[in-house]
Amino acid sequence: MIKDLAKPIQYLKGVGEKRSEMYAKLDVHTVYDLLYHFPRYYIDLTRPVSIKDAPTGESCVVKCRVVKKMAAARIRKGLTVFKAVMTDDTADLTLIIYNAEFQFDKLETDREYFLVGKLEGTLIRREISSPQIYAADADPVQPVYHLTEGITQAMLRNNMHGALQAFDKYIYEPVPKEILKENSLCSLEYALKNIHFPQDSHTCELAKRRLVFDELLTLQLGMLMLKQRSRERSGCKMKELDIDDYYSALPFELTSSQKSAISDCVADMQKDCPMNRLVQGDVGSGKTAVAAGAAYFAFKNGYQTALMAPTEILAKQHYDTLCGFLEKLGVKVVLLTGSMTAKQKRLAKEGIENGDHQVVVGTHALVQSSTVFCRLGLVITDEQHRFGVEQRGLLAGKGDNPHRLVMSATPIPRTLALMIYGDLDISVLRELPKGRQPVETYAVTGKLRERAYGYVRQHLDEGRQAYIVCPMIEESDSELQNVKSYAKKLSEGEFKDYKVGLLHGRLAAAKKEQVMESFKAKELDLLVSTTVVEVGVDVPNAAIMLIENADRFGLSQLHQLRGRVGRGQFKSSCILITDNPTEEVKQRLKVLSKTSDGFEISQEDLKLRGPGDFFGSRQHGLPKLKIADMAQDIEVLRTAQQAARKILDTDSALDKPENAGLRELTELLFEKNLSDN
Ligand code: ADP
Ligand code: MG
Repeated sequence: MIKDLAKPIQYLKGVGEKRSEMYAKLDVHTVYDLLYHFPRYYIDLTRPVSIKDAPTGESCVVKCRVVKKMAAARIRKGLTVFKAVMTDDTADLTLIIYNAEFQFDKLETDREYFLVGKLEGTLIRREISSPQIYAADADPVQPVYHLTEGITQAMLRNNMHGALQAFDKYIYEPVPKEILKENSLCSLEYALKNIHFPQDSHTCELAKRRLVFDELLTLQLGMLMLKQRSRERSGCKMKELDIDDYYSALPFELTSSQKSAISDCVADMQKDCPMNRLVQGDVGSGKTAVAAGAAYFAFKNGYQTALMAPTEILAKQHYDTLCGFLEKLGVKVVLLTGSMTAKQKRLAKEGIENGDHQVVVGTHALVQSSTVFCRLGLVITDEQHRFGVEQRGLLAGKGDNPHRLVMSATPIPRTLALMIYGDLDISVLRELPKGRQPVETYAVTGKLRERAYGYVRQHLDEGRQAYIVCPMIEESDSELQNVKSYAKKLSEGEFKDYKVGLLHGRLAAAKKEQVMESFKAKELDLLVSTTVVEVGVDVPNAAIMLIENADRFGLSQLHQLRGRVGRGQFKSSCILITDNPTEEVKQRLKVLSKTSDGFEISQEDLKLRGPGDFFGSRQHGLPKLKIADMAQDIEVLRTAQQAARKILDTDSALDKPENAGLRELTELLFEKNLSDN
């Protein structure tokens, strides 16, 4: 069990108080921590090259013996040069060592050593300076660790050997045997030994695969257990009722995935436990209509719905949309945001408390404890990726265990969605409403900026509107200056005959709203904005999205921004401008011209940028991973997900003795990481 491995690092031979303090800086406190301090990479001594064939100027490994050690040459004070002639019988090599007399002294004539470093010189006079030197019987693959001051690679390797020798009897096997067998996984003991001191790259791969599996398995177990935990009884079990009048009152025909998402919700809300569902759909796929359908079902059952949006603008927009969809069906919708006057808020809250209002749309103000619901049955959260696992829980505390629906416009590959939203069921909106025209997307360099402006003007002249987005970090003053002066420059120059508005995160909420409102009302032709415009804002007349410094965004984010146009009947385009036209950037931006499928784009993002965009931010509330890489380890991820489900099927809380080890690991992963979020 972990407690046997969780002995302070000082238990190890050669680790005193001082060194254990240094280890603490690496977050290594116990033997267990040390064993899980994995190498950053390895030096492979198994395939040395011959001196004759060794490339010059590139790092390589040669194996050679000492022919002759020369006398030390003292060049000047503080600089002594030691040389030795080495050979591997294909050619000779001069080994040069500066100052490190102890290292030179250890070399024995006629003995073989591995030298790792760059060969220099000519074909007849090869030399190698200050290489790493390993005895011929050293571990064939040398681990290289992340270090801290006072700890060298050699020390760490030594202590690791010590830990593995003294403690290997305590390395237990947390994963059930048949799961190991089914997935061709090695034992944990083998994995821990071979991740540090593998015989070759194959054993190293085996070890790594096992440790990645463990990490993803425990992560998935934790997420699934969280999901179960939220499966207490709901006090809002609803009755079967038809909502045909909702469908017929809509101004359009729902897509079939919208319909099935609504059916999913309706079925969930009739169950004993609260709904916990994610509706995932690309920008423009019509998530709001799904939310409204669910809210209407709750309404018909006599329950209130709360819809939370990440920004005021979005809350207002949802409010307008829901009013349009639901008021004619007799539902009273009310808005509740921070920028409302005290009196407006009080009135809204009174109506919520006495049940006059059945649907409440708002920002975080809703979470405030002063809002009392009369009969809250459904909580909808929009744009989930702005919230975290924790926050999802907050509103659920209100009412009597209400149902929860989460809407996310971040299309993420399904496997990843299962990780991030492992505690939720998922409905995916695969298709866009009929008649949407794809947004033409062009990636151009700054040289074409003037022409792009011309293109924008041409569309403004036709009565359309446009966005220009600059990637500004809203918190920083100077960057803010940037977007301000950029907007000023445009409104006095290229766009002086047009009405230009400015939107950024530093504006007061009311001011933001006012700008957005006037853009919606066509009082502005052009909106210069930071990414605050990213989330969900709907202006059907806007037909051009021009993005400056597009290379600074992730593809998914660009896709989100692009989704702000092409929402009406007008042909729309998106122009990506970059002053950094490297091949990598070009390739990346090209993906957007090629496809408008958000799932494909996110998959591409994942490949190109790694999962940082999805997992980097702590907002997800997910534990940090040590060895697994969600992008690279997709295959193991799937395996781990299947295994997790299988394990929980027969032991839903990991209570059985044979699962005690897994339980311990899962708790460790979540406790350690969730607490510092
Ligand atoms: P998102 O999924 O990005 O939040 P919205 O819910 O804002 O998308 O919907 C985008 C636009 O499409 C809105 O104007 C909405 O009224 C409209 N819409 C939604 N569903 C349909 C549909 N089935 N047919 C036509 N238009 C639709
Ligand atoms: Mg939306």
